[in-house]
Amino acid sequence: ATPTAVMVATGIGANHGVLVKGGDALERAQNVNYVVFDKTGTLTQGKAVVTTAKVFSGMDLGDFLTLVASAEASSEHPLAKAVLDYAFHFHFFGKLPSSKDGIEQRKDEVLSQWLLEAEDFSAVPGKGVQCSINGKHVLVGNRTLITENGVTIPPEAENFLVDLESNAKTGILVAFDGDFVGLMGVTDPLKREAAVVVEGLKKLGVHPVMLTGDNWRTAQAVAKEVGIEDVRAEVMPAGKADVVRSLQKDGSIVAMVGDGIAIEAADYVLVRNNLEDVITAIDLSRKTFSRIR
Ligand code: ADP
Ligand code: MG
Repeated sequence: ATPTAVMVATGIGANHGVLVKGGDALERAQNVNYVVFDKTGTLTQGKAVVTTAKVFSGMDLGDFLTLVASAEASSEHPLAKAVLDYAFHFHFFGKLPSSKDGIEQRKDEVLSQWLLEAEDFSAVPGKGVQCSINGKHVLVGNRTLITENGVTIPPEAENFLVDLESNAKTGILVAFDGDFVGLMGVTDPLKREAAVVVEGLKKLGVHPVMLTGDNWRTAQAVAKEVGIEDVRAEVMPAGKADVVRSLQKDGSIVAMVGDGIAIEAADYVLVRNNLEDVITAIDLSRKTFSRIR
């Protein structure tokens, strides 16, 4: 391709919100073998919603929700936001019909009055959060976080969890003072274009991969919905780059589609947050360099 062709293609990309970092990046995309997608917020909308909350101890459901929301209040994770929303609605909607309109705006203020103080908060990457509330150790996160801390998950809770996971939901498990208390089920719907894009990649001869820190069962269920057969689940945040490197080992060209963390290192920035732009980027490269494949 001539420099002019590269310039034109770069401009076309920009008009579609596909920012290409130079001619080399533009050329590379035509030969991509793998597209690795983050699950949360990339294939999914990243708008998690709690669908179930179930207590397996004697704790009152309202107290359970207060406890979980208090532990998650300092977390930046999308799941934490879902938990706080659910607890907020549980406690305030229905009870305050007349003031319902203003309550959503006053949410942070209302929450801060009602949440319990969480001390020694720490996020456990890829697993959940822990803190101390009223002097008791609180764990909120996935199965690994709970069991690693020596807490036993009762069989009926485990069965309930497996059921949620088989239906593409993520379980949020809660332990209080060393005992398992209950769990929540969270759904994060697929982006509407996700399945079409996966199908489109396969037609282009590109192998799609799903990469996630979420558990195997949930990951498989989501992958099935979106049409991805190659799933890498329960990968810690620090391990995601290793997965990409292992795919590159045989000389394959790997594109990673994920959230903002790698913008500096990225060849492409997809401004619109629409997965169709992955296809646009590959198309643009193939048309510009018009290699016969
Ligand atoms: P992803 O690869 O989907 O972005 P993360 O690495 O962020 O996943 O997290 C992996 C898993 O750890 C989540 O699916 C969830 O089960 C658990 N987890 C992480 N942070 C939290 C949190 N703040 N509250 C509850 N669970 C969490
Ligand atoms: Mg994440």
